[in-house]
Amino acid sequence: MKHERRILLFIINSFIYTIVTSNVKIPFFGLFLVRSYTSVYSYMIYNISVTDPESHFLFITYTIPNVDSEFIEIQLPAWRPGRYEIQNFAKNIQFIEAISRSGDKLSLDKITKDRWRIETKGESEVQVRYSYYAAIQNAGSSYVDNELWYLNFINFCMYTEGRISEPCTVKLNLPNGFDVACGLPVFWDVVDNIPTAYANTLAASDFYQLVDSPLLASATLQKCEYIVDEIPFIIWMHGNLKPNWERIKRDFTRFSREQIATMKEFPEDRYHFLNLILPTAFYHGVEHRNSTMIVLGPDDEGEGLYFDLLGVSSHELFHAWNIIRIRPKELLPYDFTKENYFRTCFVVEGCTTYYGDLFLKRAGVFNLESYVKELQVYMKRHFENSANSSQSLADSSFDLWLDGYEKGIPNRKVSVYHKGALVALILDLYLRKKSSHQNSLDDVMRLLWLRFGKPFIGYAIEDYIYIVEEVAGESLEWYWNDCIFTSEPLETRLNEALAFVGLQMTTFSNGNIQLNVLDDFRAQIQREKWLETVQEIAEEDDDDEGKE
Ligand SMILES: [Zn+2]
Repeated sequence: MKHERRILLFIINSFIYTIVTSNVKIPFFGLFLVRSYTSVYSYMIYNISVTDPESHFLFITYTIPNVDSEFIEIQLPAWRPGRYEIQNFAKNIQFIEAISRSGDKLSLDKITKDRWRIETKGESEVQVRYSYYAAIQNAGSSYVDNELWYLNFINFCMYTEGRISEPCTVKLNLPNGFDVACGLPVFWDVVDNIPTAYANTLAASDFYQLVDSPLLASATLQKCEYIVDEIPFIIWMHGNLKPNWERIKRDFTRFSREQIATMKEFPEDRYHFLNLILPTAFYHGVEHRNSTMIVLGPDDEGEGLYFDLLGVSSHELFHAWNIIRIRPKELLPYDFTKENYFRTCFVVEGCTTYYGDLFLKRAGVFNLESYVKELQVYMKRHFENSANSSQSLADSSFDLWLDGYEKGIPNRKVSVYHKGALVALILDLYLRKKSSHQNSLDDVMRLLWLRFGKPFIGYAIEDYIYIVEEVAGESLEWYWNDCIFTSEPLETRLNEALAFVGLQMTTFSNGNIQLNVLDDFRAQIQREKWLETVQEIAEEDDDDEGKE
């Protein structure tokens, strides 16, 4: 079909969806659509409206084109990438119906808790209309009111079985004056030989991209932009605060540059930090393909809030490599219908937790004192809470789907974040000590990127072991046994590693943990090598970079 006609029909149909939502019927368009009975789109369309913002309900019309079977099945995800537990978003759907393009009801049967079968009756296009309750503010939820549309499409967008890889568009019927922050590009096409962008309409190459692209829209969004290696990074804020953009730009530029200098290239051509700042205490970030969604508070916390912002932002940015592209093979592709078990979350979250703060120190954003304080936090969380747990890290990774995000029973599980970060630290310092800093965990991450992330083929736990031992130049049976696959106590191994860089963890008789910097000149030299930047550019460039 010619572009012009397709676009014309797209515009008209967008208009119709608005009308349908408000229950007004316009006969002309009905006739028009009967005449153009064959499907005209090559993409799935999600039309999103909010008629009563205070009710927190979204109204979604999901249009499925090119239907050619007697039945189709539609699925709402049961979980979201970044949090490996079943969340059952379908419980937030209040009503649902399927209609033909001419408005006739089609039979729709629920066949699992979040899957429906529609009898298509020979229709080439099916619309599913439903409402979704969007009233939760965390980094993986959706929330709408008079002032804000905060959307995670994974919560409420369905896909059609067998067609998850087809392109999608999202039409947002936003209030006037709202700006949109989202990693998805604006939908555009050529009309009369003129490239035309469609207001408040976004495009995704497939369902995976759509649901990996959260969105903030409001009339009071604040933003700033900085550039590293010609890649624009955009920081968006919604909330009751006045950001110190100069300081933010300086510090974000530093850690972004350090990460890219370490990994040698960035996986995306643009990146968005989406921040929702609440009046109440909150700390939550979720990684996405070319963006991250961060929810922090309270908005009047000052320096504490700023340190949280730095810590979570550096962590989430490193996920742009580590899991978004360097993906455990069990998660490639995501199966949104059920648990996707994997044993390597200690690589996904452990290495990312370790690197999030390490990059801040190496980039000069954190001083030694701040960095040691962060290391001490992981140590306290692990040794004061779960030092005697019966599970290994690999088993706790597998069981994320069971109890990964709750306190759990005593002495059962370990944190893939905290113990994961500590074993990443042990490995990094071992590799550095053995090679006089010639090799490190940086080499492991780069090889994972080159062999698995860049080609996007997914790695197995054996691949990680192989790469680590290749960098080490030896078998590391002790490491896999003591740190990853059993519940051996970690304290001795950790202090052996820390001694190399002049740090020591002490456990007091009441179980409290403290990390100290030792007065040891030789170890201080090693510590400085461990924590030095990998960037070759002059420090003076720092202040100018973010002002472009
Ligand atoms: Zn993470």
